[in-house]
Amino acid sequence: MPDDIEKLPGVGPKTAEKLREVGFIDFMSIAVASAGELGATADVSEATANKIIQAARDQLEMGFETAEKLLEKRKDVGYITTGSEQMNKLLGRGVQTQAITEAHGQFGSGKTQLGLTLSVTVQKPVDEGGLGGKVAFIDTENTFRPERVAQIARELDMNPEEVLKNIFVARAFNSDHQMFLAEQVNNLLKDQKENIRLIVVDSMTGHFRSDYAGRGTLSVRQQKLNRHLHLLQKMADQYNLAVYITNQVMATPDAFFGPTMKAAGGHILAHAATYRMFFIKSKANKKIARLIDSPDMPEGEVLFQLTEKGIEDV
Ligand code: ADP
Ligand code: MG
Repeated sequence: MPDDIEKLPGVGPKTAEKLREVGFIDFMSIAVASAGELGATADVSEATANKIIQAARDQLEMGFETAEKLLEKRKDVGYITTGSEQMNKLLGRGVQTQAITEAHGQFGSGKTQLGLTLSVTVQKPVDEGGLGGKVAFIDTENTFRPERVAQIARELDMNPEEVLKNIFVARAFNSDHQMFLAEQVNNLLKDQKENIRLIVVDSMTGHFRSDYAGRGTLSVRQQKLNRHLHLLQKMADQYNLAVYITNQVMATPDAFFGPTMKAAGGHILAHAATYRMFFIKSKANKKIARLIDSPDMPEGEVLFQLTEKGIEDV
């Protein structure tokens, strides 16, 4: 259930309706909004918007925690094997829970393949590199292939039918729908009906880029992307699960070096993703994964390949 946002001072039924219409459906989405955006949306002054935002923050007790308490929580972090020991090492021990891991790179660089591989390996028991958990997979580009998942499962000595049963897939038709689907996952988690330990969003940015193509709507896009990412991070923290997202790259002209590849999503995505990898195509089925941003691991790169098993060491 979304939060009762009418509880916030200054939010009557009319205001609540306006807020809900654009996706401010819980305290978190309001707590991380800007006063300007919220004020414009709800048709209230910036001062009132600030009060509403502050009240939402109070509800969430967003503030300081002792480092000791944080360390305690970090002890619960789980790791999912990528299928490649090299890539696991690059990331620490694999794809972590309580964090968002992003892969960006050109078409065909293995971003989706990693998502499919993780959807299988997360189901393995802990001593085999999994978390014994299920998967919510938000597919925005229609590239989820159950046959491919079944192949990976078979190659990894798992029962393909069982593996497929544990993956909940939804196709997102536009960015609002994509956000809605993340809310649905949140509801599933709240009801504690399914032991979901991995959420995949493939691709995170595709719809946002095409839905908000004009420059005039850029800030709306970034605000929405921000909210979407915050919900994903919240689920990662609250339910100790891993979030894996893929991202497109765009060519940006550079007068000196010629066109260079840059990840989409701007600084909002750059800040939200805890671990960021850049996938680069190499020869044949080989690819390079470069870790470009991590709070606790050095930058580095490794070679991996795509095979019947999904992702593998070379
Ligand atoms: P993207 O980065 O665009 O998401 P993908 O993850 O879909 O790229 O990777 C596509 C690559 O995966 C293709 O080069 C293809 O050769 C490889 N691939 C797909 N299925 C298999 C398979 N069954 N065995 C080996 N390689 C595969
Ligand atoms: Mg893909």
